[in-house]
Amino acid sequence: MSHKKYFTLSFDDGIEQDKKLIELLKQYGLQCTFNLNGGLLGEKNYVAYAGEIGFMNLPPRAKIRRSLFKTVNQYRIPADEIAQVYAGFEIAAHAFMHEPFKGASAEKINESLDKDREVLSRFTNQPITGFAYPGGFSSEIAGKCLEKKGFLFGREAFTSDSFAWPADPFRYKPTCSHKSKNVFELIDKFLDAEAENEDLLFMMWGHSYEFDYGTENSSLEHMERVFEKISGHNGIIYCTNSFAFADHAKNKNPK
Ligand SMILES: [Zn+2]
Repeated sequence: MSHKKYFTLSFDDGIEQDKKLIELLKQYGLQCTFNLNGGLLGEKNYVAYAGEIGFMNLPPRAKIRRSLFKTVNQYRIPADEIAQVYAGFEIAAHAFMHEPFKGASAEKINESLDKDREVLSRFTNQPITGFAYPGGFSSEIAGKCLEKKGFLFGREAFTSDSFAWPADPFRYKPTCSHKSKNVFELIDKFLDAEAENEDLLFMMWGHSYEFDYGTENSSLEHMERVFEKISGHNGIIYCTNSFAFADHAKNKNPK
Protein backbone atom coordinates (compact mmCIF):
# COMPACT_ATOMS: atom_id res chain seq x y z
CA MET A 1 0.00 0.00 0.00
CA SER A 2 1.34 3.41 -0.87
CA HIS A 3 1.41 6.22 1.62
CA LYS A 4 0.58 9.88 1.10
CA LYS A 5 2.10 13.31 1.75
CA TYR A 6 -0.30 16.05 2.83
CA PHE A 7 0.37 19.78 3.09
CA THR A 8 -2.13 21.86 5.08
CA LEU A 9 -2.44 25.37 6.45
CA SER A 10 -4.26 26.51 9.60
CA PHE A 11 -4.90 30.22 10.30
CA ASP A 12 -6.56 31.60 13.42
CA ASP A 13 -9.08 34.21 14.54
CA GLY A 14 -11.00 34.97 11.29
CA ILE A 15 -9.62 38.43 10.64
CA GLU A 16 -9.68 41.03 7.87
CA GLN A 17 -6.08 40.22 6.83
CA ASP A 18 -7.33 36.72 5.83
CA LYS A 19 -8.77 38.32 2.68
CA LYS A 20 -5.26 39.04 1.36
CA LEU A 21 -4.13 35.57 2.40
CA ILE A 22 -7.05 34.02 0.48
CA GLU A 23 -6.02 35.88 -2.69
CA LEU A 24 -2.54 34.34 -2.37
CA LEU A 25 -3.92 30.87 -1.60
CA LYS A 26 -6.02 30.98 -4.76
CA GLN A 27 -3.08 32.19 -6.81
CA TYR A 28 -0.95 29.22 -5.66
CA GLY A 29 -3.71 26.59 -5.66
CA LEU A 30 -3.50 25.98 -1.91
CA GLN A 31 -6.15 25.06 0.64
CA CYS A 32 -6.45 26.33 4.21
CA THR A 33 -8.43 25.79 7.40
CA PHE A 34 -9.57 29.02 9.09
CA ASN A 35 -10.26 28.82 12.83
CA LEU A 36 -13.01 31.21 13.96
CA ASN A 37 -14.64 32.23 17.24
CA GLY A 38 -18.43 32.21 16.83
CA GLY A 39 -18.94 34.62 19.77
CA LEU A 40 -16.52 37.27 18.52
CA LEU A 41 -17.47 37.70 14.85
CA GLY A 42 -17.14 41.37 13.87
CA GLU A 43 -15.16 42.32 17.04
CA LYS A 44 -12.45 44.92 16.61
CA ASN A 45 -9.37 44.43 18.76
CA TYR A 46 -5.68 44.84 18.30
CA VAL A 47 -2.54 42.89 19.06
CA ALA A 48 0.58 44.28 20.71
CA TYR A 49 3.77 42.76 19.39
CA ALA A 50 7.53 42.96 19.65
CA GLY A 51 9.77 41.79 16.84
CA GLU A 52 7.95 38.79 15.38
CA ILE A 53 6.04 37.83 18.53
CA GLY A 54 2.46 38.97 19.14
CA PHE A 55 1.98 38.81 22.88
CA MET A 56 -1.22 40.59 23.89
CA ASN A 57 -4.76 40.65 22.49
CA LEU A 58 -6.32 43.93 23.53
CA PRO A 59 -9.84 45.34 23.41
CA PRO A 60 -10.37 48.59 21.47
CA ARG A 61 -10.47 50.84 24.53
CA ALA A 62 -7.45 49.34 26.29
CA LYS A 63 -4.98 52.02 27.21
CA ILE A 64 -1.44 51.04 26.44
CA ARG A 65 1.68 53.08 26.08
CA ARG A 66 1.70 53.26 22.28
CA SER A 67 5.24 54.54 22.53
CA LEU A 68 6.32 51.25 24.12
CA PHE A 69 4.43 48.78 21.95
CA LYS A 70 3.73 48.38 18.29
CA THR A 71 0.24 47.17 17.43
CA VAL A 72 -1.59 45.65 14.48
CA ASN A 73 -5.34 45.46 13.94
CA GLN A 74 -7.19 42.28 14.79
CA TYR A 75 -10.58 43.04 13.22
CA ARG A 76 -12.68 39.91 12.98
CA ILE A 77 -14.81 39.46 9.87
CA PRO A 78 -18.53 39.96 10.66
CA ALA A 79 -21.01 37.07 10.66
CA ASP A 80 -22.81 38.17 7.50
CA GLU A 81 -19.54 38.16 5.51
CA ILE A 82 -17.89 34.89 6.54
CA ALA A 83 -19.71 32.58 4.09
CA GLN A 84 -18.60 34.72 1.17
CA VAL A 85 -15.05 35.48 2.34
CA TYR A 86 -14.23 31.85 3.18
CA ALA A 87 -16.14 30.19 0.30
CA GLY A 88 -14.15 27.13 -0.84
CA PHE A 89 -12.09 26.92 2.38
CA GLU A 90 -12.59 25.04 5.62
CA ILE A 91 -13.97 26.76 8.72
CA ALA A 92 -13.00 25.21 12.06
CA ALA A 93 -13.84 26.07 15.66
CA HIS A 94 -11.44 28.07 17.87
CA ALA A 95 -13.54 28.33 21.10
CA PHE A 96 -16.68 30.48 21.20
CA MET A 97 -15.07 33.44 23.01
CA HIS A 98 -11.42 32.52 22.32
CA GLU A 99 -11.21 31.25 25.89
CA PRO A 100 -8.34 28.88 26.70
CA PHE A 101 -9.35 25.23 27.22
CA LYS A 102 -6.38 24.35 29.41
CA GLY A 103 -7.71 24.06 32.95
CA ALA A 104 -11.37 24.32 31.87
CA SER A 105 -13.97 21.73 32.92
CA ALA A 106 -15.55 19.32 30.42
CA GLU A 107 -18.86 21.12 30.95
CA LYS A 108 -17.42 24.52 29.98
CA ILE A 109 -15.55 23.05 27.02
CA ASN A 110 -18.62 21.21 25.69
CA GLU A 111 -20.74 24.34 26.02
CA SER A 112 -18.16 26.39 24.11
CA LEU A 113 -17.80 23.76 21.36
CA ASP A 114 -21.56 23.48 20.89
CA LYS A 115 -22.09 27.25 20.68
CA ASP A 116 -19.13 27.76 18.33
CA ARG A 117 -20.25 24.95 16.06
CA GLU A 118 -23.85 26.16 15.98
CA VAL A 119 -22.95 29.73 14.98
CA LEU A 120 -20.20 28.85 12.51
CA SER A 121 -22.18 26.15 10.71
CA ARG A 122 -25.26 28.38 10.57
CA PHE A 123 -23.39 31.25 8.91
CA THR A 124 -21.15 29.17 6.62
CA ASN A 125 -23.47 26.26 5.92
CA GLN A 126 -20.64 23.75 6.38
CA PRO A 127 -20.07 21.07 9.01
CA ILE A 128 -17.47 22.06 11.63
CA THR A 129 -15.10 19.15 12.24
CA GLY A 130 -11.79 20.84 13.12
CA PHE A 131 -10.56 22.70 16.18
CA ALA A 132 -7.59 24.92 17.08
CA TYR A 133 -6.80 25.66 20.77
CA PRO A 134 -6.84 29.41 21.63
CA GLY A 135 -3.60 30.30 23.37
CA GLY A 136 -2.15 27.07 22.00
CA PHE A 137 -2.40 24.81 25.07
CA SER A 138 -4.51 21.65 24.95
CA SER A 139 -5.56 19.42 27.84
CA GLU A 140 -6.46 15.78 28.24
CA ILE A 141 -10.06 16.71 29.09
CA ALA A 142 -10.37 18.97 26.03
CA GLY A 143 -8.97 16.26 23.73
CA LYS A 144 -11.55 13.79 25.02
CA CYS A 145 -14.40 16.33 24.56
CA LEU A 146 -13.36 16.92 20.93
CA GLU A 147 -13.20 13.22 20.21
CA LYS A 148 -16.61 12.54 21.79
CA LYS A 149 -18.22 15.33 19.76
CA GLY A 150 -16.95 13.87 16.50
CA PHE A 151 -14.23 16.42 15.76
CA LEU A 152 -11.37 15.07 13.64
CA PHE A 153 -8.48 16.91 15.28
CA GLY A 154 -7.41 19.58 17.79
CA ARG A 155 -4.42 21.72 16.86
CA GLU A 156 -2.06 23.25 19.40
CA ALA A 157 0.22 26.22 18.68
CA PHE A 158 3.60 24.86 19.74
CA THR A 159 5.48 23.44 16.80
CA SER A 160 7.03 20.01 16.25
CA ASP A 161 9.36 20.44 13.22
CA SER A 162 7.97 17.01 12.30
CA PHE A 163 5.91 15.42 9.49
CA ALA A 164 4.87 12.37 11.53
CA TRP A 165 1.18 11.79 12.16
CA PRO A 166 0.30 12.54 15.77
CA ALA A 167 -0.29 9.70 18.16
CA ASP A 168 -3.20 11.78 19.51
CA PRO A 169 -4.91 13.85 16.76
CA PHE A 170 -6.84 15.82 19.41
CA ARG A 171 -3.66 17.31 20.91
CA TYR A 172 -1.70 17.84 17.75
CA LYS A 173 1.36 20.07 17.30
CA PRO A 174 1.66 21.68 13.86
CA THR A 175 4.96 21.29 11.98
CA CYS A 176 5.83 24.99 12.04
CA SER A 177 4.50 28.53 11.79
CA HIS A 178 4.73 30.58 8.59
CA LYS A 179 7.22 32.75 10.46
CA SER A 180 9.40 29.91 11.82
CA LYS A 181 13.03 30.66 11.05
CA ASN A 182 13.53 27.16 9.56
CA VAL A 183 10.44 27.19 7.30
CA PHE A 184 12.37 26.91 4.01
CA GLU A 185 14.60 24.16 5.42
CA LEU A 186 11.50 22.22 6.48
CA ILE A 187 9.95 22.63 3.02
CA ASP A 188 13.14 21.23 1.41
CA LYS A 189 13.03 18.30 3.80
CA PHE A 190 9.36 17.67 3.07
CA LEU A 191 9.85 17.83 -0.70
CA ASP A 192 12.63 15.22 -0.41
CA ALA A 193 10.81 12.99 2.09
CA GLU A 194 9.38 9.68 0.89
CA ALA A 195 6.15 8.48 2.47
CA GLU A 196 7.56 4.97 2.67
CA ASN A 197 6.17 3.51 5.85
CA GLU A 198 3.50 5.99 6.85
CA ASP A 199 1.54 9.03 5.67
CA LEU A 200 3.30 12.34 6.21
CA LEU A 201 1.71 15.66 7.21
CA PHE A 202 3.21 19.13 6.97
CA MET A 203 0.88 21.53 8.79
CA MET A 204 1.79 25.22 8.89
CA TRP A 205 -0.12 27.56 11.18
CA GLY A 206 -0.31 31.28 11.85
CA HIS A 207 -2.32 34.49 12.11
CA SER A 208 -2.60 36.68 9.03
CA TYR A 209 -2.30 39.85 11.19
CA GLU A 210 1.32 38.75 11.65
CA PHE A 211 1.91 39.74 8.01
CA ASP A 212 1.47 43.36 9.16
CA TYR A 213 4.60 43.10 11.33
CA GLY A 214 6.49 43.58 8.07
CA THR A 215 9.61 41.81 9.35
CA GLU A 216 11.97 39.48 7.50
CA ASN A 217 10.04 36.32 8.48
CA SER A 218 6.60 37.81 8.92
CA SER A 219 5.09 39.64 5.96
CA LEU A 220 2.80 38.95 3.04
CA GLU A 221 5.86 38.90 0.76
CA HIS A 222 7.48 36.24 2.93
CA MET A 223 4.25 34.22 2.87
CA GLU A 224 4.26 34.39 -0.91
CA ARG A 225 7.85 33.07 -1.04
CA VAL A 226 6.77 30.17 1.18
CA PHE A 227 3.77 29.40 -1.07
CA GLU A 228 5.91 29.65 -4.19
CA LYS A 229 8.27 27.00 -2.83
CA ILE A 230 5.74 24.54 -1.38
CA SER A 231 3.05 24.69 -4.10
CA GLY A 232 2.66 22.80 -7.37
CA HIS A 233 4.60 19.59 -6.62
CA ASN A 234 3.46 16.18 -7.81
CA GLY A 235 2.94 13.71 -5.03
CA ILE A 236 1.76 16.24 -2.44
CA ILE A 237 -1.91 16.50 -1.52
CA TYR A 238 -2.82 20.16 -0.86
CA CYS A 239 -6.00 20.06 1.24
CA THR A 240 -7.89 21.21 4.31
CA ASN A 241 -7.01 19.69 7.66
CA SER A 242 -10.33 17.87 8.02
CA PHE A 243 -9.78 16.29 4.61
CA ALA A 244 -6.25 15.19 5.58
CA PHE A 245 -7.32 13.67 8.90
CA ALA A 246 -10.36 11.91 7.39
CA ASP A 247 -8.35 10.61 4.43
CA HIS A 248 -5.52 9.41 6.68
CA ALA A 249 -8.02 7.51 8.84
CA LYS A 250 -9.38 5.83 5.69
CA ASN A 251 -5.84 4.85 4.59
CA LYS A 252 -5.24 3.29 7.99
CA ASN A 253 -8.52 1.38 8.04
CA PRO A 254 -9.47 0.68 4.43
CA LYS A 255 -12.95 -0.78 4.04
ZN1 LIG B 1 -6.62 32.69 18.31
